[in-house]
Amino acid sequence: PSPLAYERLSAATWLLVVCFAFGRDPSPRKINLGVGAYRDDDGAPYVLPSVREAEARVTARALNMEYLPVAGHAGFLSKAMDLAYGEGAVPEGLASVQTLSGTGACRLAGDLLARFAGGDKAADGADGRPLVLLPNPSWANHAAIFRDAGCAVGTYTYYEPSTKSLNLEGMLRDLRDAPRGATVLLHACAHNPTGVDPDAEAWGEISAAVADAGLHPLFDMAYQGFTSGDPAVDAAAVRRFVADGHAVVLAQSFSKNFGLYGHRVGALSVMTGDAAAAAAVSSQLCILGRPSYSNPPLHGVRLVDEVLGDAALAAQWREEVAGMATRIAGMRTALVAALADAGSTADWRHVTDQNGMFCYSGMSADTVARLAAEWSVYLTSNGRISMAGVTSKNVGYLAEAMHAVTK
Ligand code: PMP
Repeated sequence: PSPLAYERLSAATWLLVVCFAFGRDPSPRKINLGVGAYRDDDGAPYVLPSVREAEARVTARALNMEYLPVAGHAGFLSKAMDLAYGEGAVPEGLASVQTLSGTGACRLAGDLLARFAGGDKAADGADGRPLVLLPNPSWANHAAIFRDAGCAVGTYTYYEPSTKSLNLEGMLRDLRDAPRGATVLLHACAHNPTGVDPDAEAWGEISAAVADAGLHPLFDMAYQGFTSGDPAVDAAAVRRFVADGHAVVLAQSFSKNFGLYGHRVGALSVMTGDAAAAAAVSSQLCILGRPSYSNPPLHGVRLVDEVLGDAALAAQWREEVAGMATRIAGMRTALVAALADAGSTADWRHVTDQNGMFCYSGMSADTVARLAAEWSVYLTSNGRISMAGVTSKNVGYLAEAMHAVTK
């Protein structure tokens, strides 16, 4: 398609086009850097050995396959909460339910808001719908999730294209100017699509601005472990907000850090302050879930429960998460070095400054179109590179291609 066609497509639609075009491209050198799923150094999907081991143990038990309760698997949920908030630090009065991965957690949060948070004039978007503010840009699916749930969607300043980093001042200004009572969605770590996260100091300022403006923080944590390699470190922003006294709502995904993409493993938790309110919110979440999917899926949560329930297997899992994060970080360094080797004199420091699975390369839709047409290198039109698709075998060719279209 022409560069213009690229601009007309939303990032979500474009991802489908990328996969389609990649599949049809006969080039043996083709590279798919569109999909946000981890790949090993051969470019193959990766099943974590700890998860394989858990699966063998679970299978050997020949368990039944009865329905889970609407709220989900209790053992999994308690371990998921420990993982997010810290063992022994799970807030009192926390309502939590299992969800259809991170997407389902965001959607259920949106459903909850649409049912109960509307009608507050100050927080209303259009037509009395509760307002959810997303970073600009955000994961391509966020706006549709919250709109379809019945919320109004707005944005706040986040990424600054000229510096390829966080525009903290703009972000704080927009948060302070936001209507009181609105919900602000924050990526807990490894921001998708930019790879740009606030540092600890910035999180402190953001926490204060959210409190001053009377906003409700909703964290989306889809990459816990992918930023630093340590899931506890990557949960720092969430834990900071809890410590600062916010009533945090948290959407968790186990797609990336457990590699359980297709099993749809996730959780939504809502801080309510006391046990009675938590029971009421849990019950309302079940009332929302029941006519939507009836019961959440069973197999994936058994695997997480098994991994996190066994100290040795959990330690192995932590090493494997660190291994994924390290491989991606290594590919960032390798890409910058290969770009220099290819003769590029452009400033690519942002490739290593950004973190998590993605690099917001700064390449235009036009340049992305040339990468696909001339080099069989496919990424989304916003210039987002899924670093997980970069390997020691293709990094040289990728650098050559990127240099050719950016010089
Ligand atoms: N939030 C963000 C920011 C994401 O990038 C993703 C996955 N691309 C998700 C949520 C949800 O993914 P899943 O539904 O597989 O957990």
